[in-house]
Amino acid sequence: MKKQLFLYTIIIVFTGLVVFFGVSIYITRNNYLKIAKDEVIEIAQVYAGFYDEEKPLSDFVHNTTGQTRITVVAPDGTVLADSRPLDTETMENHIYRPEIQNALKGTPQTHVRFSDTLGIDLIYYAVKVDIFDGGEESYVFVRASVPVGQIDEYLTSSLPLLIIILIFLSVLSFIFIKQMANRITKPFNSIEQKLRSLSDGAYDDEPIGESYEEIDRITQGIDEIALILQNSIDTISDERSKLNYILDNIDEGLFTVDKNGNIVLINKSVLKTFNAPRDIIGKDIIYLSGDKSLTEGVRDCIISEKSAVFEIINNGKILLVTVKRLPDTDLTMAVLSDVTENRESSKRREEFFANASHELKTPLTAIKCFNELTVINNKDEKINKYVDGITRETERMLLLIGDMLKLSELDYSKSVAPSTIWLPSVNNEVRDSVSAIIDEKSIVFESCGDCMVTVEQRHIYELVKNLIENAVRYTNNGGKVTAVIGNDKKGKRLIVSDNGIGIPAEDQSRIFERFYRVEKSRSEQNGGTGLGLSIVKHICVLYDWKLSLKSKVGVGTEVIIKFS
Ligand code: ADP
Repeated sequence: MKKQLFLYTIIIVFTGLVVFFGVSIYITRNNYLKIAKDEVIEIAQVYAGFYDEEKPLSDFVHNTTGQTRITVVAPDGTVLADSRPLDTETMENHIYRPEIQNALKGTPQTHVRFSDTLGIDLIYYAVKVDIFDGGEESYVFVRASVPVGQIDEYLTSSLPLLIIILIFLSVLSFIFIKQMANRITKPFNSIEQKLRSLSDGAYDDEPIGESYEEIDRITQGIDEIALILQNSIDTISDERSKLNYILDNIDEGLFTVDKNGNIVLINKSVLKTFNAPRDIIGKDIIYLSGDKSLTEGVRDCIISEKSAVFEIINNGKILLVTVKRLPDTDLTMAVLSDVTENRESSKRREEFFANASHELKTPLTAIKCFNELTVINNKDEKINKYVDGITRETERMLLLIGDMLKLSELDYSKSVAPSTIWLPSVNNEVRDSVSAIIDEKSIVFESCGDCMVTVEQRHIYELVKNLIENAVRYTNNGGKVTAVIGNDKKGKRLIVSDNGIGIPAEDQSRIFERFYRVEKSRSEQNGGTGLGLSIVKHICVLYDWKLSLKSKVGVGTEVIIKFS
């Protein structure tokens, strides 16, 4: 800015000086010419006044002074006499000279012209003088001329002085402009430094020193804005430090990425987990971890904008990753929780559950056999009654243990060996197994529709059996149970519904938990173990089927399985 200011000003000042001198020279020359012209007119008129045809012409013209030249021209243009020692006879005819023509027309005028005769620029003026030539009226032209060269010589001689003055003034203005440019730009340099100090986070609010009033006002404004900005920056960085502190002190790993998958924010826990440096911020997520499922899971969420939960294994630890697109931003957040402990303890629990069930099954089966033998060999009615009670409870326990074993088996099932099963055949099989209770309760059972499902036979049987058994169990005498198989644009579905007692709204979210019963006594009375719907849920999870339930107390229940 300083350079430009300086350059432009110097160009303007120099041009101004040149124009000033040029115009001055022009005006001076013009003024001189005007004076010279007036002088020529005056000389010509004076000479014309003195003209006397009686006197010899040579006397008349030789009476001139200085550079003035007088010429007498006859009406036909012949030069009669000239004050310069020239041969008038050889001189050109002057009739067409403009000053002679003007005089002839009665409108005398000065003319500046190069004289071929004298070889210089002259100002000419001619006057028509009436005379009597041999008694006859005639006339002559008296012409005066002076050289223009005097002014040009004068101006040329003063040119070196003018150039010196021009140079002097230029140098003077150069020094002055330089100082002025320094003075004008100095406050701007200080302002620039102030703004830089603001961006560095430590605003320098010292006054900028001697300056101009207008610039002072600008700096004052900048100071005020900077103060507000500084306060905002302080607040933001304060908030950011707090946020970073909190983020760094939570056990869960947390990081966010932008829409390109570049890391925007990351906490210590993630850095520690993946042994990554802090300067990973701004880099692609691929630099964080070589785990394909993590990078792909996060990228999928960025593209689909759908949340996702998945597990990854890092250094022998199971990390549960929850990825979520943050609403109204282009940021995606991932939270990593170490679930290794949880998984191990639930694995231990499940192992214990499976082992205990297995260990209990053998003695209970033995008890059941002994009871049956006792009833056969014993004639005492009273004892047989007690033994019957023991047998009932033993059977119930065996059912319970059977369900527990099925559940633990499902817990451990990592792979399945499915085959294509025709669903109506399963419905019919189940219907036959519960026909005794259907008949006993006079329940109307309807089954319709058909589709093929890819599943292990024992799993689909267990699922349908639990749903239909529940529907029959919790429907009053004379009620209705339907098992509809849907195979349309909504996909393959099994809908088991009844018009039974229904499930209260507050229990609906919990009935798939192990041993959860709406009413314990009612369930036990109906021969339930409290594990039926848990088994159904586990099978659905195993095959990735969608399970949903609709129920209203006193109206009925509908369970829908959507096969994937
Ligand atoms: P249970 O062996 O006790 O039936 P489930 O896991 O099969 O255990 O069912 C859990 C609870 O859900 C039951 O105790 C029962 O109260 C309720 N329930 C299940 N199905 C139905 C249904 N069709 N109608 C009403 N209640 C039901």
